[in-house]
Amino acid sequence: MLKVTKFGGSSMADAGQYRKVRDILMSDKERRVAIVSAAGKRFSADHKITDLLYLCHAHTQYGVACDPVFNMITSRYLEIRDELGLKLDLESDFAALKARLDKKEVSQDEMASRGEYYSAKLMAAYLDFQFVDAIEWVFFNIDGTVNKEESYAALRSKAAGKGIVTPGFYGKMPDGAIRTFSRGGSDITGALAAAALDAGVYENWTDVSGILMADPRIVENPQPIPEITYDELREMAYAGANVLHEGAIFPVREKDIPLNIRNTNDPVHPGTMIRSHFETETDPHRIITGITGKKDFSIITVFKRGLTSQVGILRRILSVLERHGISVEFVPNGIDNVSLVIPTATVAPHLYSILADIQQELSPDNIVVQDQISIVTAVGHRMAFRPGVSGQIFAALGQAGVNIRMINQGPDELNIIFGVKNEDFAQAIRVLYNSFVK
Ligand code: ASP
Repeated sequence: MLKVTKFGGSSMADAGQYRKVRDILMSDKERRVAIVSAAGKRFSADHKITDLLYLCHAHTQYGVACDPVFNMITSRYLEIRDELGLKLDLESDFAALKARLDKKEVSQDEMASRGEYYSAKLMAAYLDFQFVDAIEWVFFNIDGTVNKEESYAALRSKAAGKGIVTPGFYGKMPDGAIRTFSRGGSDITGALAAAALDAGVYENWTDVSGILMADPRIVENPQPIPEITYDELREMAYAGANVLHEGAIFPVREKDIPLNIRNTNDPVHPGTMIRSHFETETDPHRIITGITGKKDFSIITVFKRGLTSQVGILRRILSVLERHGISVEFVPNGIDNVSLVIPTATVAPHLYSILADIQQELSPDNIVVQDQISIVTAVGHRMAFRPGVSGQIFAALGQAGVNIRMINQGPDELNIIFGVKNEDFAQAIRVLYNSFVK
């Protein structure tokens, strides 16, 4: 079975991290393909190489010398090379890049891509794997989407035999220009490689032991999630959890390749396994998979007697929002009222105009706007069709004195969503975590 591995910026930050990556790859012969990020932060006040590359490029665009920043970038890579005792001529590469940069011949995307490029060069030399440049196999269409068929075929032809290292984050446009994905895009490259090679697993190595059940800034030492389905992950990401972006997992999800999030600094930890579904579950008693949420929503509630029995009323209300280009997140309703739950940042600039339009469109009995609302989401496929879960959630919140402003559950019962005041947000998450996990 082939394992495709992707190492994020913190795993590539210095020579010490390179050694860990090497140990991880050498400990398992099936790990024959590695996708690498640019060097990330070594400590919290440090800089990510990709940020410095953008910064350097911006300088030259405005005709400001970027030598100090350029030197910060190159010295990071030279330091890694020298500490690992590698004989790789990076100096001529750097000089050529700098010369073209000074002549404004380097595009922003090309400049940003160099972090991954140098990481991959160094790592390939260190592992004695083959270096395969991303422009040799990640092909973009003119509209910026990836031409999967050709990209997959190209990688397949390159990856036979010896192990390979390839840079994440960028590829080639039809005219030969370098193009990057959006920030964090090496995850996409990794997923594409795993899909291209029909890997048995896509290992995404980072600096945490998997996806956590709750935000560690809110819950102390939250447990990692051992197993999560792609659908649950989507819910978690949508509801605010900082996990892999959908676009980054689509290629592997499409081919039903499991994705395993692992920790370079704790390689024996199994991390989080993500799949479409699990035949057997390690922990079938775990009812809630994860708890997440977002702050700062507004609820606009429209009151009108007999409202829900009128044909087309919802459409008329929603068309007001549509005219303002605003998407509504939830629409809970009562017999004589309907509420629109919308992020405050999107609705606030248009609020008075929206209220005026609703007034004109419906002549409601009353309209009430509440701000400072947080949405909390409990995600878990095991909650589905199991009586008593919401009872347990709301009982726990009730005991903690947290008032619930809104409740929403989709018919697939994959999640339970509720609204609380912003000031109760953290407590609501802690209460849920404690009552289901502890
Ligand atoms: N280095 C790029 C970034 O910082 C891409 C990545 O690391 O995934 O966004």
